[in-house]
Amino acid sequence: MAAKGRAKRDAKPGKGAGAAKSTSVAKRPARSKRPRPRGPALRAHAALLLERLLARYPDAHCALDFTNAYQLLCATILSAQCTDKRVNMVTPALFARYPDARSLAAARQEDVEALIKSTGFFRNKAKSLIGMAQAVVEHHDGEVPADMASLVVLPGVGRKTANVILGNAFGRNDGIVVDTHVTRLSNRLALTSGTDAVKIERALLPLFPQERWTMLSHLLIEHGRQVCDAKKPRCGECLLADVCPSAEVQTSGRPARRE
Ligand code: SF4
Repeated sequence: MAAKGRAKRDAKPGKGAGAAKSTSVAKRPARSKRPRPRGPALRAHAALLLERLLARYPDAHCALDFTNAYQLLCATILSAQCTDKRVNMVTPALFARYPDARSLAAARQEDVEALIKSTGFFRNKAKSLIGMAQAVVEHHDGEVPADMASLVVLPGVGRKTANVILGNAFGRNDGIVVDTHVTRLSNRLALTSGTDAVKIERALLPLFPQERWTMLSHLLIEHGRQVCDAKKPRCGECLLADVCPSAEVQTSGRPARRE
């Protein structure tokens, strides 16, 4: 009923369609009318994005502090639903107390919980950390394995975490880390659509040279943090605005808003 009433009001001729239209356009977010590239154009689009992002963020890197694969694995497990900054505040004490998988495998759950409490979900995370360490000791002689198949069966480790470890601790470009920033930017930049991380990774892989897969995640995450914010993307200062199909365009004196 309410919808019907609203439709009726909208249909009123009022003061002329032109006047009503200009008011509504000024208030609504406006998006670029640029079409989503496909086929060879999509590859060229991806290459251009990579080139510009590399020039803008040449030093983009993993924001978690670590010195070896064991530390990065612990830090990545802790980073779920938590900022990298917070994780970096917690890990020095964790690594001082449990410097390797063997010591962590023998840890008491409550002791680990106390050290990681501020990262949130600390009971589950402590369980994952200890379980991961026990599996590493039992099946890999205490050394974090350097292959996807062995990593993804460790407690608390999924494909995203495995890609983080392989790319950053072992220098292997076996896949692309798809986190919330990569998901958002891949969609806005029309590299892919949807929110399924596996599908996004599958769509991104053929668009970029394999030697850049790890770096690509760092670049998209950095740009997401600095410019392409989830709620307020700063399209006006974005180096990709002229090629981004989601770029907002100003229709009045005020910047357009989105989402
Ligand atoms: S800030 Fe705007 S123009 Fe830049 S990538 Fe994000 S949506 Fe596109």
